[in-house]
Amino acid sequence: MRIMYNSYSDRPPLVSIIFTFSVLFCLIFIILYPIVLMSIPSPQDENLGKYISENKDAKISIPKSRHYLCVVVPYRDRWAQLSVFVPYLSEFLSNQLTRHSIYIINQADRYRFNRGALINVGFLYGHPDCDYFALHDIDLLPNSPLIEYIYPNSSGPIHLTAPKYHPFYNFDSYFGGVTLIRREHFERANGFSNKFWGWGLEDDEFRLRITEKGLNISMLSLPLNRKNAFIHISVPNAKGSRDSKNWLESARRKRDRHYGYRDVQLSSLPRITTLSVENYNYIQVDVKLSCNVTSTPWCMSEAYL
Ligand code: UDP
Ligand code: MN
Repeated sequence: MRIMYNSYSDRPPLVSIIFTFSVLFCLIFIILYPIVLMSIPSPQDENLGKYISENKDAKISIPKSRHYLCVVVPYRDRWAQLSVFVPYLSEFLSNQLTRHSIYIINQADRYRFNRGALINVGFLYGHPDCDYFALHDIDLLPNSPLIEYIYPNSSGPIHLTAPKYHPFYNFDSYFGGVTLIRREHFERANGFSNKFWGWGLEDDEFRLRITEKGLNISMLSLPLNRKNAFIHISVPNAKGSRDSKNWLESARRKRDRHYGYRDVQLSSLPRITTLSVENYNYIQVDVKLSCNVTSTPWCMSEAYL
């Protein structure tokens, strides 16, 4: 008997090999295509920024979200800190693909420093498109990319320098340093009181304004601590050091239930200029606050006494 040589099963011709591989390739493509499509974010996707920043080759920088952050910095006579702060924070926020502008609210009158009133001015003069604000001391720099300047959720502001993360203020009720707040939440709390001239207390009062309006203050939950979350820019012999004279302290401590950000009094229109440090732009708002010396005599500096 002659044994037939079965060429198909023992040694398939080239055509069959190509056919089999083509079928396999088509099958893999059909299965994987929808999965690949799903993993590429759509332009509306909030994670788009993250996706792009992880792709190191991508040169375009598309904002992480549609939100726009105004960084409001109360300021007087701290150039050594400003010259570090502006380039550092601009770079930091750009790396996070956070759309932002930095406002330095410079107190240009001769009264005692008024952090709350300056933040109110920053809120009023900040770009109308800003839908959230970072109320930001000039001497604190975020030290980890984990600290994201995100748009806070509807429950209330995020205290970035919560006691757990602040380099040296670790008491529970501390609410100074850096806070992210939605425009509508700042409005709901009526901003800061304008009567806290001199160092301290305005942030404690602001905390009450926030909580009494039913808003919740949250913090980021991060594997960071007071030693590594924020850098304090310490400048030896810094000018513009804190003014903590306890003059008329009991009057100064009173709650202000009536007035807020809309009531800040200026003695002249602010001068608004775009300036830059090392090619990083910021907007300086020179403000002359006005003080009613009958109702808040503690606004006077030594020079007036
Ligand atoms: N500040 C300023 N000039 C002053 C006092 C205060 O620019 O003369 C601003 C600055 O942004 C500073 C913030 O107000 O970071 C809070 O003041 P400070 O850092 O002295 O107070 P503390 O951190 O102890 O609350
Ligand atoms: Mn400070």
